[in-house]
Amino acid sequence: MANLSLITPIEYLKGVGPQKADVIKKELLIFTIGDLLQYYPFRYIDRTKFHKIRQVHADLIGAQILGRLISLKEVGERRGKRLVAQFRDETGTMELVWFQSIPWLKKSLKIGSPYIIYGKPVEFNGAISMTHPEMELYSSAEKKVGNMTMQPVYSSTEKLKKFNLDTKGIQKLQQTALEAVYNGIEELLPAYILQKHNLIGHKEALLAIHFPQNVNELNAAIRRLKFEELFFIQLRLLRNKQLNTQKFKGHRFDKVGDRFNAFFNERLPFPLTNAQKRVIKEIRQDTNTGAQMNRLVQGDVGSGKTVVALMSMLIALDNGFQACMMAPTEILATQHYNGLKELIGEDICSIKLLTGSTPTKERRLIHQGLEDGSLDILIGTHALIEDKVKFKNIGFVVIDEQHRFGVEQRAKLWRKNVVPPHMLVMTATPIPRTLAMTLYGDLDISIIDELPAGRKPIKTVHFFENQRLRVFGFIREEVTKGRQVYIVYPLIKESEKMDLLYLEAGLEGLMREFPLPQYHISIVHGKMPVKDKDFEMQRFVKGETQIMVATTVIEVGVNVPNASVMIIENSERFGLSQLHQLRGRVGRGAEQSFCILMSGDKLSKEGRKRLDTMVRTNDGFEIAEVDLELRGPGDLSGTQQSGVLEMKIADLAKDQAILSEARSRVIEIFKEDPQLLAPQHQQLSIYLNQRAPGISWDKIS
Ligand code: ADP
Ligand code: MG
Repeated sequence: MANLSLITPIEYLKGVGPQKADVIKKELLIFTIGDLLQYYPFRYIDRTKFHKIRQVHADLIGAQILGRLISLKEVGERRGKRLVAQFRDETGTMELVWFQSIPWLKKSLKIGSPYIIYGKPVEFNGAISMTHPEMELYSSAEKKVGNMTMQPVYSSTEKLKKFNLDTKGIQKLQQTALEAVYNGIEELLPAYILQKHNLIGHKEALLAIHFPQNVNELNAAIRRLKFEELFFIQLRLLRNKQLNTQKFKGHRFDKVGDRFNAFFNERLPFPLTNAQKRVIKEIRQDTNTGAQMNRLVQGDVGSGKTVVALMSMLIALDNGFQACMMAPTEILATQHYNGLKELIGEDICSIKLLTGSTPTKERRLIHQGLEDGSLDILIGTHALIEDKVKFKNIGFVVIDEQHRFGVEQRAKLWRKNVVPPHMLVMTATPIPRTLAMTLYGDLDISIIDELPAGRKPIKTVHFFENQRLRVFGFIREEVTKGRQVYIVYPLIKESEKMDLLYLEAGLEGLMREFPLPQYHISIVHGKMPVKDKDFEMQRFVKGETQIMVATTVIEVGVNVPNASVMIIENSERFGLSQLHQLRGRVGRGAEQSFCILMSGDKLSKEGRKRLDTMVRTNDGFEIAEVDLELRGPGDLSGTQQSGVLEMKIADLAKDQAILSEARSRVIEIFKEDPQLLAPQHQQLSIYLNQRAPGISWDKIS
């Protein structure tokens, strides 16, 4: 077969064929030879390190053992059915157990043959065993290509294994593929970059990642491929950003006028923090360039993002435009609306609220006001992006708590005017630098890293169940002082019933401890009709109730300055960023605030680290870093919907240094050669034209 290349469909590879190709495509999303070569091993077995059965214990993460399979027996019935093997070396015998793929294993495992096995040892009734170990015949391990001490392990599936595509089969394919295309694999990075960053070549790296001769070679390959992956992501992001400013004309706000000044001089009830001033200035500069602004404002809870949004909207108004602000929930939208109205008063501009529960009549009036231009600012939920909602001249859009909205929804806002409005995205979930550079690499980022003066840092403690009486006593004290208290129960995603169970179980005790008429309790949870929720929230906001018992619906944005205690029940069940968000509900007034993390006695290592981190620091950025480290980028709130994070080899939690290197390099390239016209950048330009032609709406904002 002549002329195979990286883009040749996988079925043309020797030994694949249509059937096998089909299952490879379905199971691994590998379509071309290039895709296959990017299917990297997830682990390497160091072939020089073996354990003896007698030394194996359950604390090992994994153990590699050379021994002989001496028997194979199916035991148990139906769901308890399993395959059990005796595996022996010169020091002892252990059991290997399988619950799945039993018929296939019975056929393929060879009793009496020597195997190299790898797996996690577990202890059961005093005996060591392994469940679903990786199995490799010793004879075929020996015949491995070259003389590798680092042997790659690929993840496979049951279906693939039926086609002999276990780790060994995949390795064989990699070998065939590399032999077929190796000489034709082109370098993707300019030579000077390889030199500057001390990187090995692309094809050398591909060879070494699949067939490393030693650890050094493997590490060099990994570094090269990580750099490459991050480099091209940054290249695409920063090119988009560049095109964005060139292509999309934006409304030019060239003045600050009456409304802004009236608010600033007559109504603003506090001096702005330096961080707030800086961000308003950044927005002001952006909106005065003639290009469309896409800016992300990151600021910890309570850092005062709302007033920044308001003042930016007023600049839009001063330049003859309308503005809107979208929040993820009705409660939040309503709160923003009330808060903004209170801040700005009656006479500076007209401002209205549109949510799913706005009555039809009011809705019609709003639509009309938007279309004839008499309505200046619209606050709302998703209701805002419906096609029916048409503006006369929308110039500025604020999206609060951005991660709750999908890209599609944001794109819809873009299309609400001929020239797209400026976009200000606000998030209270601080994102670690590496993530921000990747998720929002094509946005400009502002950071409000300063809390308004006079705030006392929230005191956080971690209590166990047996300290509950103390907690009740503390609640009583605070309520007597006139403060209000939140008690939050976890929301169990898998079971909404469970969610209520927690809350209801807790509630019984609370009602006994805090009886009427002295104490009034508000209850808010996700299953309640919106109307009831709002009613209960309002009672708390107005101070008619002292204790708010809730599930996480109160998580985002809710602002009750008089609330000074946040109690989080089963806090070990919450993610770090969620805990931090919840804590941010208190500490909004002048009083000392407290956060009490209640937990059971049994904590996982991770759970303990989360609670310890909360007790140690109030800094959202620091917390975000720990969160990234614990959970990995894919699970952080706000990242789920982003394809950017589906990386083949780089890991944002670990590869911060390589990412910074790659991003700086890309920035440098665009600075020196914005059009990528220089000969040494030709291949980058080709890459961009092939892989990321133009801009899609969805990529932006
Ligand atoms: P977040 O950034 O969490 O959205 P908010 O905008 O809701 O924070 O602000 C939190 C509280 O702080 C509000 O009550 C707001 O009025 C107040 N605030 C905002 N900026 C300042 C400031 N510069 N000085 C004093 N209080 C401020
Ligand atoms: Mg807010």
